[in-house]
Amino acid sequence: MADRDGFIWFDGELIDWRSAQVHVLTHSLHYGMGCFEGVRAYKTDRGTSIFRLEDHTRRLTNSARILGMPMPYSESVINEAHREVIRSNKLDSAYMRPIVFYGSEGMGLRADNLKVHVAVAAWEWGAYLGADNIQKGIRIKTSSYSRHHVNVTMCKAKSTGSYMNSMMALREATHDGYDEAMLLDTQGFVAEGSGENIFLVRDGILYTPDLTAALDGITRRTIMILAKRFGYEVIEKRITRDEVYIADEAFFTGTAAEVTPIREVDNRPIGSGSRGPITERLQSAYFDIVHGRFDSEFDGWLDFTEVR
Ligand code: PMP
Repeated sequence: MADRDGFIWFDGELIDWRSAQVHVLTHSLHYGMGCFEGVRAYKTDRGTSIFRLEDHTRRLTNSARILGMPMPYSESVINEAHREVIRSNKLDSAYMRPIVFYGSEGMGLRADNLKVHVAVAAWEWGAYLGADNIQKGIRIKTSSYSRHHVNVTMCKAKSTGSYMNSMMALREATHDGYDEAMLLDTQGFVAEGSGENIFLVRDGILYTPDLTAALDGITRRTIMILAKRFGYEVIEKRITRDEVYIADEAFFTGTAAEVTPIREVDNRPIGSGSRGPITERLQSAYFDIVHGRFDSEFDGWLDFTEVR
């Protein structure tokens, strides 16, 4: 990733991609305190659009606030940084990665002279869980790792350190031949995937775990609004693992994963073992929204950036 042409926004300016480097004594590298976002920009008929940019930047700012890291830039500067990396890298669709981290001004947990750095990078990135799987659906496995407890890491923050848990779970699942992990919370209730929220459909009603241990996903919010608009009831509640086994349909949501059907959990097919009709309807509407093809009612979620 480091050796390529392009530009990265780093601490207020656009710099050459290869020069966007940090020292090995970077504090966040040692203790995992930092926060980030995953944002996507899509090519639309009206130009490149960053989807729900303001909501992502707000969550980033909130993550920093939860971690107690003073943000050196306003939300509008960070929003503009996203537009700048799209323009300067001439991308018409992109995955975007803003990150907030501590520098190398000091070491040790007590270091109090640390500078907060902010960077935003963007590059092309296709379907996170595989292009075929968007139609076909994925096979997932309940993880042996629990999702964070709300009083261990702060689950409302999208913090760098908490992704150690995600990586352990994902590596275990893929090593065992599955596509993704399903993590339970410390009480044993379904929380989310390693980088996705989860939804179930049963008897035409959508269910999703409440946000105690799961990230407040922006795609999750989008799907909830869409589902309600289509007239489906959406219930947020504690969900048990066996409720997933008897769901008619299940799917993951995430900026990277978009809407990915789940066709099998712990070697049990979900419903017919393929993408369900309600999943398909919501997935297709989601792709229409992000590509600016849906009702103009949702245009407020599109942030158009002209690619020069
Ligand atoms: N849960 C976790 C653990 C994630 O990493 C992500 C991806 N950011 C999500 C859920 C989905 O969040 P969003 O829809 O905002 O991308």
